Amino acid sequence: MNQRPDILIIGGGVIGLTTAWNLAGQGVSVSVVDRQQVGREASWAGAGMLPPGRLQNAITPEARLRAYSHQLWKTLPEELKARTGIDNGYRRCGSVETCTANQAEAFDRQLSDWRAEGIVVEELDRTDIEKHIPALAENVPSGVFLPEFGQVRNPRHVKALAAACRQMGVEILEDQEQLSLTLSGQRVEATTPDRQFACDRICVCAGSWSSKVLDPLGVSLPVKPVRGQMVQLKVSQLPFSCVIEQGRRYIVPRADGLILVGSTEEYVGFEKRNTTEGVADLLKFAESLVPELGRAEVIRCWAGLRPGSPDELPFLGRIPQFDNLFVGAGHFRSGLQMSPGTGAVLADILLNRTPDIDMDGLTFDRVATMTA
Ligand SMILES: Cc1cc2nc3c(=O)[nH]c(=O)nc-3n(C[C@H](O)[C@H](O)[C@H](O)COP(=O)(O)OP(=O)(O)OC[C@H]3O[C@@H](n4cnc5c(N)ncnc54)[C@H](O)[C@@H]3O)c2cc1C
Repeated sequence: MNQRPDILIIGGGVIGLTTAWNLAGQGVSVSVVDRQQVGREASWAGAGMLPPGRLQNAITPEARLRAYSHQLWKTLPEELKARTGIDNGYRRCGSVETCTANQAEAFDRQLSDWRAEGIVVEELDRTDIEKHIPALAENVPSGVFLPEFGQVRNPRHVKALAAACRQMGVEILEDQEQLSLTLSGQRVEATTPDRQFACDRICVCAGSWSSKVLDPLGVSLPVKPVRGQMVQLKVSQLPFSCVIEQGRRYIVPRADGLILVGSTEEYVGFEKRNTTEGVADLLKFAESLVPELGRAEVIRCWAGLRPGSPDELPFLGRIPQFDNLFVGAGHFRSGLQMSPGTGAVLADILLNRTPDIDMDGLTFDRVATMTA
């Protein structure tokens, strides 16, 4: 058993595990502590949509992290499969993006941002759109197709990450409900009832719970849970194979005939229930876009808690008032897509190296200018 990890990661969602995988790949001794089984929160609940990016033209912090991750997604699934045998279901499925009349202005802005970034965008008239989605409702006259858009089966991905981490010697400690952080001078120490972690550095990757973990140290991190409900349908034959997005809602077809319909955005604290209203709204949305989904079988529904931040971007890096405390949390709707880039930059920061991308707009310092 590894009693003296160099780096302790608190939280084994996609962010903590990807960071651990990157660190272990560089020969660093890592422990991941989770209060339950790893990969069972937002990283399990999400839809696994992976939008494209172009790093050389990415200007905003969001675009940089998305584009960097988009590059890394090209190789990560194969690396994990080679190591663990687990196929995470990553595939380039493309996406059809549509909008309602109310969303037209925002949609046009998004379109010009994609174009400015150099993302491949194909305009679709009604005839073209039917080639991608023959069953699309008649009242959708046009849209655009993003051929580089991908998806991953996120529950399988976190399973592959955890297995790969274990194989590389990462110590994963599950069901640790009573981890506490205390201050000793400028350094933070982590203990559980039966263990004191003698680690050089601690990184908090506890998703929506990160602010609770940091509270006892007097650190105010403006990360709040944002509930997202999801419905899973099943059809005998998929009526389309690409993702369909309309505003903040979407339909994601899996290769085996399962279809995810998401999602709500609700500020209801740490409450993970599904509601009649939420589920009914998603079913109505799916049927209004693809009428034949009205005959699909409803398999299950669930809800997850996205780690929301005021500017919808994560906080990555050292918390300045401490020598050894770091954070990687607040990815909101984009934690799966941004996880490869996040894991790489956090590993670099934890090892005192300069990350591959400019971190401006992604670090902890901006907390000072925000209200939760
Ligand atoms: C419905 C829904 C749809 C989504 N769809 C997408 C999508 O299509 N694409 C995309 O990119 N993103 C999507 N997201 C967002 C994405 O899932 C999250 O941004 C991402 O999973 C956050 O990962 P995380 O590791 O930070 O948090 P989590 O996955 O929530 O992991 C946090 C971990 O910390 C642990 N933890 C909490 N407290 C403690 C403690 N005190 N001690 C130890 N461990 C602790 C938890 O048990 C958990 O394992 C979606 C989210 C939801 C809910």
